[in-house]
Amino acid sequence: MALIVHKYGGTSMGSTERIRNVAKRVAKWSRAGHQMVVVPSAMSGETNRLLALAKELAPAKADDAYHRELDQLAATGEQASSALLAIALQAEGLASVSYAGWQVAIKTNSAYTKARIESIDDARVRADLAAGKVVIITGFQGVDGQGHVTTLGRGGSDTSAVAVAAALKAQECLIYTDVDGVYTTDPRVVPEARRLKTVSFEEMLEMASLGSKVLQIRSVEFAGKYRVPLRVLSSFTPWDIDLQEEAKSGTLISFEEDENMEQAVVSGIAFNRDEAKISLLGVPDTPGIASQILGAVAQANIEVDMIIQNVSHEGKTDFSFTVHRNDFARAIDLLKSVVAAKLGAREVIGDAKICKVSIVGIGMRSHVGVASKMFRALSEEGINIQMISTSEIKTSVVIDEKYMELAVRALHKAFDLDQPPA
Ligand code: ADP
Ligand code: ASP
Ligand code: MG
Repeated sequence: MALIVHKYGGTSMGSTERIRNVAKRVAKWSRAGHQMVVVPSAMSGETNRLLALAKELAPAKADDAYHRELDQLAATGEQASSALLAIALQAEGLASVSYAGWQVAIKTNSAYTKARIESIDDARVRADLAAGKVVIITGFQGVDGQGHVTTLGRGGSDTSAVAVAAALKAQECLIYTDVDGVYTTDPRVVPEARRLKTVSFEEMLEMASLGSKVLQIRSVEFAGKYRVPLRVLSSFTPWDIDLQEEAKSGTLISFEEDENMEQAVVSGIAFNRDEAKISLLGVPDTPGIASQILGAVAQANIEVDMIIQNVSHEGKTDFSFTVHRNDFARAIDLLKSVVAAKLGAREVIGDAKICKVSIVGIGMRSHVGVASKMFRALSEEGINIQMISTSEIKTSVVIDEKYMELAVRALHKAFDLDQPPA
């Protein structure tokens, strides 16, 4: 008998019919003798619906009081789906109880809409499990030190599930979703994408941080920190398939390189449209310029991702960097009003119609020429590269947003990702 955590995403919880299916699947695991904790997301579309209602009443603003209410509001989505799942499990003849984050309690900091989990009290959950109950815990939410409801950022139920699994020292955390595992790239963009049987923790971390939304980045960080065995699999298989078969399906996030690992140089392609580019043209090329520009941006609590500085021409240079699109307008205003004037930049220009496309693979450590192959594949499609950044196991480029799908498909083909590695 093992303690297992299941997480079901929004689509998997999308209707009463689907919730009934989830209940039947969980009941199968429970009847096989496992202690079960289940972390559901809100029913699909619900979080968007709730946040849109708030926007109808007041436009988004950087204000703590407003963000507190957004969390109070959005958290209701998971509270409803959790209670519905407990009801469905009871209808299957199992004892079941659902808890909101604060009832557990899942303690977080007070960063509304992007709170971080600080601790989880496992006493209540353990007592229920010992009493033979299936315990349902809302995904996506927690409670801060003052008792305010918080949420963990979009896609945050993944993180709730992994954190709960870590706190309970669960044998495994199974992330059930609407695809049957982690693919070489988003199968919605590249139909030839191939499911990976295993993916290394490091690659998964890069893919999640570079935009593959199949797992929220923090859930992968948690899994790494607490060594939580993590698997991504489909909730759309028939609920009554053989449990042993189900337990081995999908994609395992692996912490060790073993002989089962695929040995491809590039394992996956990630992309995101969440960034925007800002350029300061004609800034004096003197020591301290970068720190003055980026220092001011950091002071405004705006995170910078990629940075590029051109060679100087007659003592002047151009300096570009990317920020999250949500911070774009604020960053432009700041640079126009304060920094540009102080630095004597000729012009500040912004471009929100960009995207970042990245290739990821631990094989890149030991192979040369991978980045140049990437650039060649893009140039053959006539795609201009605006910025480049590399690390040991990834290369990212910024390109015009309109070429995103073309670029992802071209790279998927160039690196033979539709073929199993030799
Ligand atoms: P859930 O609601 O279950 O949390 P998400 O929509 O958050 O599901 O994540 C699953 C989706 O992630 C898939 O439907 C797929 O379109 C997308 N996705 C992006 N990159 C990948 C990838 N590399 N492998 C699998 N799915 C991916
Ligand atoms: N319901 C939340 C969202 O839509 C959390 C999640 O689904 O993981 O972002
Ligand atoms: Mg998700």
